[in-house]
Amino acid sequence: MLNKVVIGNQKMNLTASQTRRFINAFVPLVEHANCEIGICVPYTNLATCKRALKETKIMFGAQNVSEFERGAYTGEISSAMLADIGCKMSLVGHSERRKIFSEQNSQINNKIKQNLKYNITSILCIGESKRERTAGTTKNVICKQLDECLSGLYENELEKIIIAYEPVWAIGTGQTATAKQIEEAVKIIREEISRLYTEIAGKNIVVLYGGSVKADNVKMFAGIKSLNGFLVGGVSLEAQSFSDLIHNFIGKSK
Ligand code: PEP
Repeated sequence: MLNKVVIGNQKMNLTASQTRRFINAFVPLVEHANCEIGICVPYTNLATCKRALKETKIMFGAQNVSEFERGAYTGEISSAMLADIGCKMSLVGHSERRKIFSEQNSQINNKIKQNLKYNITSILCIGESKRERTAGTTKNVICKQLDECLSGLYENELEKIIIAYEPVWAIGTGQTATAKQIEEAVKIIREEISRLYTEIAGKNIVVLYGGSVKADNVKMFAGIKSLNGFLVGGVSLEAQSFSDLIHNFIGKSK
């Protein structure tokens, strides 16, 4: 059976003290959950996570990382800096970064390569826009993102990659993809990884869905056998709602 994974993306919402309060409330609610759980927080909250999550199995990560190794890149945070404070994962290529900060697949590829050098897992976000779905180009978009973002990576490095399928039109909109659309996209992702690497790589890669997942709709997706779990934005900001989502997922997908 596939590993179950749920990761929260708290975006630019909580301060470090608010994150500490979130963790204090969240940990007792999920400490016995049979699921890998992580939260991706602003850079300034990583040290708080490290301290507050020390005695737990909950992972923490960044929401972005620099594509550069080091040097005159004012405002950037490198993979080496993340690794040095004990951060073991980071989102890369979130659609907000692609859309608002014009991030390109080639830059995301560099970020993944930097993360690999420092043993950091990259949660690679991919997905089509509404216009692309309507135009019938979803498969092309997903495959191009995978090909370009994973360019030059070896099969054994896929252990440090999680793919998050996040259709842009479903993020923060309250409009989720249907279970059928998610299943189709996950199939495309696994087939493309198989084509680029091997069938076993396509089978083993961890794939999440993200886009307006909540405690009450997660049950609709929990039965998708090829899906490992979820990347959760808005709902991950509140301990009880996030925990309800996790319990509804693992309860349904036993
Ligand atoms: C996200 O931003 O990665 C996300 C999935 O957001 P939301 O759950 O709020 O749609």
